[in-house]
Amino acid sequence: LRSTLSRVMGAAQTRVPQARTFTRGLQTVTLIPGDGIGPEISSAVMKIFDAAKAPIQWEEKNVTAIKGPGGRWMIPPEAKESMDRSKIGLKGPLKTPIAAGHPSMNLLLRKTFDLYANVRPCVSIEGYKTPYTDVDLVTIRENTEGEYSGIEHLIVDGVVQSIKLITENASRRIAEYAFEYARNNQRASVTAVHKANIMRMSDGLFLRQCREVAEKYKDVKFTEMYLDTVCLNMVQDPTNFDVLVMPNLYGDILSDLCAGLIGGLGVTPSGNIGANGVAIFESVHGTAPDIAGLDLANPTALLLSAVMMLRHMGQHPLAKRIETACFDTIRDKKVLTKDLGGNSKCSEFTNEICRRV
Ligand code: NAD
Repeated sequence: LRSTLSRVMGAAQTRVPQARTFTRGLQTVTLIPGDGIGPEISSAVMKIFDAAKAPIQWEEKNVTAIKGPGGRWMIPPEAKESMDRSKIGLKGPLKTPIAAGHPSMNLLLRKTFDLYANVRPCVSIEGYKTPYTDVDLVTIRENTEGEYSGIEHLIVDGVVQSIKLITENASRRIAEYAFEYARNNQRASVTAVHKANIMRMSDGLFLRQCREVAEKYKDVKFTEMYLDTVCLNMVQDPTNFDVLVMPNLYGDILSDLCAGLIGGLGVTPSGNIGANGVAIFESVHGTAPDIAGLDLANPTALLLSAVMMLRHMGQHPLAKRIETACFDTIRDKKVLTKDLGGNSKCSEFTNEICRRV
């Protein structure tokens, strides 16, 4: 318990990184194509970036779990070395074996690079039919502690205990990230999502940090809301929300609910922001083994993750151009993959975006 605590608390000491600005020359990005449909959708993104003449140099690395010293699972050193150098990664989905073998590679990446903020913009896509047409919000989830700290033990037979770990450092760090994000992305408000009425100490500590940080950002409106109230209000009218910041478990669940409001995981991008300036952007869907290798995958989620990545790198006009080409293709409805309601292949959808970019 002590070593887990010191790891978690030590990690959260790091300063919140600012968005990076790259203006000249080629920027190296570590590309982790992933498993299943990962290589197909990664190729699609590279093709679109080529068509847009994006100043990106991809450094492709496979991430398969290997055992390091002492038998601990780790990501391959070449992938770590590439990420340490480039600081920016784009990642396809990685498969996780169930109940045996190596742990989740996503979790290993998160731990290796202390990816403490999971950011998911959920924006309605015009022309893609969903229950709402005007969703435009961002969930920011604390990614390193809470119920997912991995501190669990057996008390006696039939009784187990999982510890929810909340620290001042990690709470303050995610709150600061949320307010910085709001300010840098012209967002008007941040809502802290919590259950401090029930978990008075843990969520109380989280909420207190959000309140204190809010004091420093007078230009961004701050509100706080119980998680259950957020869920109720979200499905009734998502337009009332802007940026939402929350502890790990609430974020895991609420971010999928929000993805559902804009058409599901196939169109939802995400970014994982880490300490020391590292960031990995990824589609939130899985490896889709049922359609892998059939040229049927929809590359939108990975493409929009790459667009998020460009914005993180300060490449705003290029990001807008690629995003517009993607959204125009979907709005036009002539060339769509099956999951978007069309009959086209992944390669045809990709070519259409390339034509417009
Ligand atoms: P999944 O997201 O892979 O598939 C669910 C359904 O959605 C399938 O019918 C699939 O065909 C469809 N789908 C998903 N992405 C699509 C796309 N881009 N285009 C068209 N259709 C798409 O979820 P799953 O089947 O539960 O998981 C499969 C594997 O992926 C598992 O090993 C799981 O651990 C892994 N996974 C990885 C990540 C990640 O790396 N971030 C996330 C979730 C699941």
